[in-house]
Amino acid sequence: MDCGMKPGRGRQQSGATEGTWRLALLLGLALLAGACSTTRQFRASEAERVTIESNMRGHIERLASEEFGGRKPGSDGEELTLAYIEGELSRAGYVSGTNDPGNFWRAPVPLVRTTPVNSRIEIRVGRKRTELPAAQAAAYTGGRRALIEGGEILFVGRQSASVSDDDVRGRIALMLSEPGQSPARRETLFGKGAAAIITVVEDEQSIEQVREFWGNERLGLVSEEQNRLTGFASAGALEAALGAKKWQALLASADAPDFVPTVLDATGTIEAVTERKQITSHNLIGRLPGTKPSSGAILLLAHWDHFGQCGGEAEPDRLCNGAVDNASGVALMLELARRLAAKGPHDRDIYVLATSAEEWGLLGAKAFAENPPLPLESVIAAFNFDSVALAARGAPVGFVGEGKTPLDAVILDAIAGSRREVGDRELADQFIQRQDGWILLQRGVPAVVLSSALGSREVVDPYLSTRYHRPGDESDGIELGGAVDDLLLHENLIRRLASIAQYP
Ligand SMILES: [Zn+2]
Repeated sequence: MDCGMKPGRGRQQSGATEGTWRLALLLGLALLAGACSTTRQFRASEAERVTIESNMRGHIERLASEEFGGRKPGSDGEELTLAYIEGELSRAGYVSGTNDPGNFWRAPVPLVRTTPVNSRIEIRVGRKRTELPAAQAAAYTGGRRALIEGGEILFVGRQSASVSDDDVRGRIALMLSEPGQSPARRETLFGKGAAAIITVVEDEQSIEQVREFWGNERLGLVSEEQNRLTGFASAGALEAALGAKKWQALLASADAPDFVPTVLDATGTIEAVTERKQITSHNLIGRLPGTKPSSGAILLLAHWDHFGQCGGEAEPDRLCNGAVDNASGVALMLELARRLAAKGPHDRDIYVLATSAEEWGLLGAKAFAENPPLPLESVIAAFNFDSVALAARGAPVGFVGEGKTPLDAVILDAIAGSRREVGDRELADQFIQRQDGWILLQRGVPAVVLSSALGSREVVDPYLSTRYHRPGDESDGIELGGAVDDLLLHENLIRRLASIAQYP
């Protein structure tokens, strides 16, 4: 077993007798050999750490450079990014992993780019028709044009799961917003057949925030549902349209323990118009052939995309370079892939997947899972790398996906063997749905994230509140100590998992 101890290391320079030194060296080797057989860890020398760090830094500086333009799907930056990753992988000995001779290395991800154009919401009570003022209401659709005319309105308060399908089907659901809960509730109500949903937000300022989130250009998968009609209105606008007395009574009823959804004595007309353009982005897939490929595969993944320009119009530098997010994850993956290939061959295949459009809802990962180049059941372990360059050397390991896969024992053993600690478990849990591995995990693939960047709030919070998704996410001065630790941890783990003898 290679413990990173090389012959000739530790040559004596002091005046000690040669015999003493030889004995000490032999004792040291014996101790190390003992440690190795229980933990099976490869330990990198300081010189190797320096090489790993400088290779990663090189990848990050290139991928996050101005030339790559913030790596937006469908942009020139996409082609530069894919060519760069393909070049690095093929130089390391990888071959195309798409399993599709018509699409060498690049698996198409058909996307649609939508930009909201305009919308209107009108409420009718008896003969009174009120068009909600533009500053107080907005509606969106992923389709070219969505319209519901004179639809019945069902007030659901803060309920969703308990609303019966029969009540909501074909109607406009009018729901009260609740921070953190509203998206899931809308999903449930649409799932039950709501024709449209109006979410009631606090005031005009809340509508402004809705516009910032919904009113910009978005990307979606062509294969996903696009025709939903999602509206928002301020409480004041509803009060004006329905009458103050009626509105206050509805609000009061929503707080009552015996609340039941009520069909209003009112109808709604909602229309939204969107500009749509189809684009084809790509996942890049490489494969390091194993000697016994029928024994399963290991999958490494990292999203290559970012936002392009994302700074506000007033900002002098609007380019979102995405150095941490996620040039760093791709860099770690490339350097890890190179080192695994250099120490091969392994029994199992190693797949490397650079996903597109993660920033728009894990879209590339969804496309991969819908059309995988290998049976998903054959993936014995998947490791995602996302925004890895935050922590200094020696930081605890955030373990996202603990308790969700059969990998716990082998991973915890590898972490212990690396003399690191498992980080804040509650924090790690919060990230499980926010990363590409989630898509695979939902389909039964053992997918985890092991990252020093998610080990503690002290590490991740300052990043989230300053550079995250902003033009300041640049490569200057980026911290890589923890990322080097993470790379070595994965290397140990994957060498073990790729061996049938060590992981049957
Ligand atoms: Zn991001």
